[in-house]
Amino acid sequence: MTTLPLVPLTFGDDLPARRVSMPPTHLADMDLTGRRAVLTEAGEAGFRAAQLSHHYFGRLVRDPASMTDVPAGDRVKLSELLMPRLLDPVRELACDDGMTRKSLWRLHDGSLVESVLMGYPDRVTVCISSQAGCGMACPFCATGQAGLTRNLSTAEIVDQVVYLAGVAASGVMQGSPRRLSHVVFMGMGEPLANYARVVAAVRRLTSPAPEGLGLSQRHITVSTVGLVPAMRKLADEDLAVTLAVSLHAPDDELRDELVPVNQRWKVAEVLETAWDYSRRTGRRISIEYAMIRDVNDQPWRADLLGRLLAGRLAHVNLIPLNPTPGSRWDASPKPVEREFVRRLRAAGVQTTVRDTRGREIDGACGQLAASEGEA
Ligand code: SAH
Repeated sequence: MTTLPLVPLTFGDDLPARRVSMPPTHLADMDLTGRRAVLTEAGEAGFRAAQLSHHYFGRLVRDPASMTDVPAGDRVKLSELLMPRLLDPVRELACDDGMTRKSLWRLHDGSLVESVLMGYPDRVTVCISSQAGCGMACPFCATGQAGLTRNLSTAEIVDQVVYLAGVAASGVMQGSPRRLSHVVFMGMGEPLANYARVVAAVRRLTSPAPEGLGLSQRHITVSTVGLVPAMRKLADEDLAVTLAVSLHAPDDELRDELVPVNQRWKVAEVLETAWDYSRRTGRRISIEYAMIRDVNDQPWRADLLGRLLAGRLAHVNLIPLNPTPGSRWDASPKPVEREFVRRLRAAGVQTTVRDTRGREIDGACGQLAASEGEA
């Protein structure tokens, strides 16, 4: 029997239909066969589907006016059919010497979402949103405070990557490769609560052009609060993406509070499902753990976490808690953090402390709230 959660959680499917307005269909919502069908049904030449797809995925061109091999008279009609504008850039903020860039987008229904582009010496990573808002209600996360507005469409997810791959290709991230290589589903939303669209987006991002963007599956990370049935389904997809589990506490008593969905799927069950995922895919599981002062950072919790993870194909990512408006919590002091790391490593668990990229622009983990007014 399943116990009902005490905190009302919102899964994408529970939203009242009238409030949700999905965007027009875009080529990134479909495979190549589907794109051809849209054109031929509209009386257009089917071969244009591959041409437009090549522009979009191969050359990162989103503006039909730049498609000089398509007759000028056809460009508007074709782009209405397959490349409607999905993301309207509202604002871009940069920090860390331009190596972290947060983009705020307005969607067709006025919803606001954010993505963060991060340049490193060896790679460029984009952190993308899968939902407008989030229904998981984690009390330390800014996105969780506003609730869920709606699921993003597959193309709205993919378009964040294609747009920002174009920004990276323009050479603005000095000292980083120009080719965007890594995608993390760690922006707004719970990716596994928008399961079908997220999986379709992963397929689009990893299929070779013109079908898709041609990224490596291994360079994609899907992060979850621990929606067990969806984690199981993901293991069946034959995708070698990295799974990140936002654990934040090794014991149910505290995790029930920090990650309310734990009231439905407990720590033991979430971890068992994660180990099963790693057995099936050969991928190491990333365990996310925000370090919150005097809340989850005690030595005994480090030891308990170490016992749960020892001998598993897992890596712990400790995230110093990023400040969010109105939150009563702050980050653990550095000595406490160091002791936590030491204990995990002593238990044989690989552990790193994540950098706090993007903090000044509220672009760090848990700070994405997509309000237009501030800054
Ligand atoms: N809903 C998914 C995807 C979001 S990922 C998930 O929770 O996994 C965003 C990551 O940042 C999650 O691990 C989340 O728990 C973490 N996070 C949220 N708020 C944070 C904060 N204030 N400081 C540090 N990390 C935070």
